[in-house]
Order: sequence, then structure tokens, then C-alpha cells
Amino acid sequence: MVSFGRLADLYEGLEATSSGNRLREILSSFFKNIPKDEVERVTYLTLGNISSDYADVNLGLGWRMVLRSIAEASGTERAQVMKLFKQTGDPGLVAERLVGRRRKALSVKEVFGQLHRVAAASGAGSQESKIRILANLLRNASPKEAKYLCRIVLMNMRLGVADKTVLDALAVAFTGKRENKRVLEQAYNICPDVGVIAGTLVRKGLPAVKRIGVMVGRPIMSMLCQRIDRLAEIPAKMGTPFAVEEKYDGERIQAHKDGAKVTLFSRRLEDITSQFPDIAAEIRGLRAKSVVIDSEVMPVDAKGKLLKFQVLMSRRRKYGVEEFALKIPVVLFAFDVLFLNGKSLIAIPYEKRYALLQRIVRSDKWLKLANRTLCNDPDCAEELFSKVVAHGGEGIVIKDLKGAYEAGTRGWRWIKWKPEYTKELRDTFDLVVVGAFYGTGRRGGMLSSYLCAAYDPAKDRFGTFTKVASGFSDAELKSMHKRAMQLRIPHRPARLDVKDSMKPDVWIEPKLVIEVLGAEITKSPNHTAAGGLALRFPRFLRVRTDKSAEEATTVKEILKMVKQ
Ligand code: ATP
Repeated sequence: MVSFGRLADLYEGLEATSSGNRLREILSSFFKNIPKDEVERVTYLTLGNISSDYADVNLGLGWRMVLRSIAEASGTERAQVMKLFKQTGDPGLVAERLVGRRRKALSVKEVFGQLHRVAAASGAGSQESKIRILANLLRNASPKEAKYLCRIVLMNMRLGVADKTVLDALAVAFTGKRENKRVLEQAYNICPDVGVIAGTLVRKGLPAVKRIGVMVGRPIMSMLCQRIDRLAEIPAKMGTPFAVEEKYDGERIQAHKDGAKVTLFSRRLEDITSQFPDIAAEIRGLRAKSVVIDSEVMPVDAKGKLLKFQVLMSRRRKYGVEEFALKIPVVLFAFDVLFLNGKSLIAIPYEKRYALLQRIVRSDKWLKLANRTLCNDPDCAEELFSKVVAHGGEGIVIKDLKGAYEAGTRGWRWIKWKPEYTKELRDTFDLVVVGAFYGTGRRGGMLSSYLCAAYDPAKDRFGTFTKVASGFSDAELKSMHKRAMQLRIPHRPARLDVKDSMKPDVWIEPKLVIEVLGAEITKSPNHTAAGGLALRFPRFLRVRTDKSAEEATTVKEILKMVKQ
């Protein structure tokens, strides 16, 4: 049995390191030295979870409730706890300071089980019972354990460890070869659940990991688009004919139907079923026993005209969902099918998948097939593009009829084309905030410029690309400050390469992604992305809550833009 104290020591070691390689080493040697049946639990906890990200298992403990648990466990006045919280901004540090007269040692298994009890508590009085269970755990925790317990509960570990880091460490620990991380990553694209992969690996070995397949009810990573310089290149990339579809600027939905049970997943694979009861009903009505559909949801007005993506945001709510479903009607545009009646379809050509999709989706008012034509030449693609742009649409996606569904991949089977590409700078960038600087004058005391990085998936590292200080409204600056402070860490993020000249006032755990518009890419001695490229004149556009740090613009994409 692994004691929770050992796990807290592990976290302390991880938190103290600012080397990505060291992170992996520490983690893999820990995995090697614990009983196999503990690996899955440790994996989840290390990622600040108690089950898969997508599962509807929520602890339901916000920071206020965590502070109350700390007050209860330590016998401290709530006002005093709040004061400490205001000073540190981290309930974990508050717990470390106040908790500590432990009664008995905790095990990982016990903590895991109790946290599941917290998640299971629902209905009247559940808030109080959640607080009580956490307080009981804290009473038995050492100061260090208390710190990490609170961070797990709040899903904010600040360890610099991401899913990929854990996969890497698992490959080394249980196959002896780091190269095998590729096998684990491929499995992860189809089953983005590190716990399941870890469990399968330790119990059944690598061949079983290779066999992990699509399962209805479990999301798979979304297939993504490449960019292209000129439409004329398309036939060379994918042959003819090819399909051209309208690119809708709404929210991606992966819809799973298993009998009467419907689950809708967002682009980040979060369960968003409760936000869209209207869409769920449409999917439930499909003529298939089990099916997984890939699609984009768009807000529409009373006449069915497509509205802007921002309008969808007001559907993101806990209460008044039904009322807002009526106020802001939506249409689901289906464009792919990944699983049907017990069988995975991702390996068969898109052309065949589409024929099946046409059989299942009979376009009606609220569920339609995406606007699509088959083309033999680029002019035909241009024609649909012009029509889409004329009605204010975002652009087109060109699809290879022979292509498999490449989960989690930005490959050449799908190519996007947007109006921006015909202008000077080709696209906006989705960059990860890794540090921040305080402002002066009117912005004194407030973080007002942000050091942003691009991602290198091959190395699982981030490289700085620009410092963004303009484009923020006052309200946006305030909310950025708040978000950044919640992710503040004491040292350089372990997976970040950064020059001394760019050392920020505050380091930020790479989690927050923002969309940035830039005017030019140049060589720079101050930045590390793609060996020293920088984005000049960056402007903040918006926060991309739908993207994780590992889904940020990659150095490869940046290099491609430079070469054009
Ligand atoms: P962007 O910011 O340009 O949307 P992205 O990085 O979010 O880029 P891409 O892979 O570049 O994603 O573009 C694919 C996205 O476009 C999908 O995630 C989906 O949400 C959206 N989309 C809209 N219409 C379609 C369509 N017909 N086929 C595929 N994807 C579509």
C-alpha cells in the first residue's frame, strides 16, 4: 500500500524541479517502485483528478468550501483562513500553514476513496457533507499532505505535469523504452484517459494498449485541419475528387448515443450534455442503436440565420438551461460519423463514413448535414468559399475522400481555408501564457503584459514566441490577472525554454491559452520558439477556454508560415 505521504513527497519533488527530463525521471522511478494496482490511482491524482477528465465525476468543492474545510479541520476562525488565502492566493498553502496535527497516516487508496465519496454526495445537505469529508481527511494529513490534498481537490496541481508527461514516464517505467510513448500517445488519441492507458499497460502489457479502441460514451480526440498556401495545391495533396464543406464558427460537439443515453463532448472533451438538452434530444432520435457523430453547433435566429459564435456563450450555464435553449436556438451541423452500431469507423475511408452519415442524419430544422459539395478542381472549392464568405461564414474545410479519421491529428486529410489567408498575415495564433509582467502607472499592481509560448509536441516543450500587452479591454485585463494568478508558480515551468531577457515578474503554469493576432514573424534573440522566432505587434483577441496548452499553435505551424 502506498502512503499518501509518499505521494506528497513525490509532488514536492516534481514541484521543485524546473527540468522537463527530471519530471519524467522522478515520475517513472516512482511508478516503478509502487505496487501495480496503485498506478492508475496515482496517475489520476497526479493530474489533479479522481477519474477521467470527461467522466461526469465532479468533486463539487470550490475554493470557498475548501477554505471552510481547512477552518473546520484546524479549528481556525474563518476570517483568519480568508486572510491567509488573500495573502497567498492558494488554498493549498493555507492548508499547509494551518493543518498538521495528524491523528493517523493516510493511504493513497483511502484518499482516493474518500474523494469519490465527496463526488458522490449530491442533493440537500451535500455541500456540508463534502466539506466534512474533506475536513476529516485534512485532520489526518501532515502539512505537506494537506497542501497537495487541497490542490488535487481544486484540480490545480501546479506541478508542470501534463497527460503527455505521464505517458512518457509510464513508457519508461513499464516498457523500459521511451520510444514506446508513441504507442501510448496513439492509444491516447482514441482513449484520452491516462488512467485507462496506465491500467491497461500494467495489467495487460503494451499489445493490449495497442488494441484500445473507440467506445461509445468515451470521447476520442478530435481530428484537426492543416493550413495551405494556395487552393491550387489541393489536388496534389489529396487527389480528386475531394469534398469541400462550409467551416462553421460555432462550437465543436462530439455526440455519442448509446441506446437512450446521449453524451455530448466539447472540443476539450468535457461533458456538455446538460447545456444542450435540445441537441441531446435530436441525437437520441437518430435511427441507430449506438453512434458517434462529429459536428459543429451554431446559434441561429428565429428565421434560421446563422449567428456569431459569441452568442453561444450564454448557453454555457448551470441554471435556466431550458429557458436559454428557447431564447437561443441552435442547429447542429453533422460532418462525420466515427462509430456505428457497435463498430468503429475511424479506419475506413471518409467517403464510406459519409455515406453512412447520410443514412443516419435526415436533415431537419435543428440537425443538418454540413453544407458540402464534391469538387474536381480548386475553382470549384473557391466557388463555395466565396458563397460562404458572402454570408459571413468563417471559411471552408477541404476533405480527402480516402482519408481515415485521424484522431488528435492535424494532418493533410483536412485542410482549412479562411479569408485571412488571402491577406497579409495568415492566421491568428493560439498561444500559452507562461509568464506575466506587472504594469506601471494606471496599470500598477496589475499584471498587464503576458509572455506567450508555442508548443513543440515532438519534444513536449514550450518555447516563448511573443509578449502581449495590447488588445485588452480593462475588464479583460482584470479577468486575465485573476486567471493568471490562479496558475502562478514559484519558478520557470519545467517544460518551458526561455531566455533570461524574457524573465517575467510572475511565472504561470502553462494552462491558459489566448488567441493573438500578429503582424509579422521575425528572428529574435529574446525568444525560443522554433529556434528563436518572435511574433511582432501582437494583439490579444480572446481567451481560448476550448483549448488546452498542448493544443496551442505548434512550432511546426509557425515554421511553415515563415517559409511561405
Ligand atoms: P480555428 O481557430 O481555425 O477554428 P482550430 O485549431 O480550433 O482552428 P482547426 O483544426 O483548425 O481547429 O479547424 C477545425 C475546426 O473547425 C473544428 O474543430 C470544428 O470545430 C470546426 N469546423 C467547423 N465546420 C467544420 C467542418 N465542416 N468540418 C470540420 N470541422 C469544422
